[in-house]
Amino acid sequence: MSTVYMDHNATTPVDTRVVEAMLPYFSESFGNPSSPYELAARSRHAVDAAREQVSTAIGAGPEDIVFTSGGTESDNIAIKGVLFRARDERAHVVSSAIEHHAVLHTLQYMRDRFGFDVTFVPVGGDGRVDPRAVEDALRPETVLISIMHANNETGVIQPLSEIARIARERSVTLHTDAVQSVGKIPLDVSELGVDLLSLSAHKLYGPKGVGALYVRPGVKLDPLSHGGGHEAGLRPGTENTPGIVGLAEALRIATEHLAEEGERLAALTKRLQVGALGSIPEVLLNGAEKHRIPGTLNLAFKHVEGESVVLSLDMEGFAVSTGSACTTDSDEPSHVLSAMGVAPRDAQGSVRFGLGRSTKSDDVDRLLDVLPGVVERLRAMSPTYRRSA
Ligand code: PLP
Repeated sequence: MSTVYMDHNATTPVDTRVVEAMLPYFSESFGNPSSPYELAARSRHAVDAAREQVSTAIGAGPEDIVFTSGGTESDNIAIKGVLFRARDERAHVVSSAIEHHAVLHTLQYMRDRFGFDVTFVPVGGDGRVDPRAVEDALRPETVLISIMHANNETGVIQPLSEIARIARERSVTLHTDAVQSVGKIPLDVSELGVDLLSLSAHKLYGPKGVGALYVRPGVKLDPLSHGGGHEAGLRPGTENTPGIVGLAEALRIATEHLAEEGERLAALTKRLQVGALGSIPEVLLNGAEKHRIPGTLNLAFKHVEGESVVLSLDMEGFAVSTGSACTTDSDEPSHVLSAMGVAPRDAQGSVRFGLGRSTKSDDVDRLLDVLPGVVERLRAMSPTYRRSA
């Protein structure tokens, strides 16, 4: 039985065209981009072309792109870079309660280890940050706002343009973790008004271990690593030429088909949502449907453990997850759903369906065939359900 992969928020398969684009840079054109001869020039040109392509895809200039090892490193360079640059331990950051751990844990570390102050603004039941809450949290010492673009568990898109307006008015640097939105919805850094933006290749059919940080000209960051002067001194180390080429090609492909693929995935997601809510009693939708990236659906199945649904669906040939792939070993209910006011028991019963490029309407139909039975069987074994039935 082949597995139907429905966990595209965790990672995506590398597109064969991306693999093709990367291959020459492993063994053929393997030169160090910094070396002086022709073989190296090929690598250098490939990195330059990739930088141009990545910047074009997000409406930036090539000199604004810093290649990194992925979303986590981009988030760290942005946040620590701004805070260390501030050279003032009273410096304050405004972020939200639903950030990915790459942001959340970085900020907690900076607070606990160095004494920087952080305000995590709450979100509403729809999973959205209220821009007024961000505004109210600002202080004269605030040097950074870090609010994600789309949430990895619910897919809910945050009102970033409004937050950007506030950040601009108050001259505060704005960072966004756009790992879940780049390649899925139209994105232009100037329209969005952000100063720093993190992205990652493996969420958009590119390779793992490569990403980028957009840095608006004029934004000053202290580097975290020291070595050669690569990536404008912000991320020293010999460039991952194949990875960088792969990121650029993945982004080119995603951008080319953005509108059609978005519509297709939004329709499939809606079908899954309507089918599941219509055929299974006591299911809740987590997150605002109106503000969702295409492909992400988060449902709370009452009276069952989300983990059990995931394992049962795995046996039926479907790969789905309970939320962030980084926290699947944790027994704690999701911090994102908890921040939205979802009851701990419902948060524990939540499952994320991540539809993507490989998802066909047949896959959704097959899932809808098995899902009600899976939930019913699990509920039949649940003492809380038997008592309430
Ligand atoms: N930020 C968000 C919103 C994510 O979903 C992820 C991946 O799960 C990351 C950051 C981390 O990205 P990477 O795996 O490239 O380090």
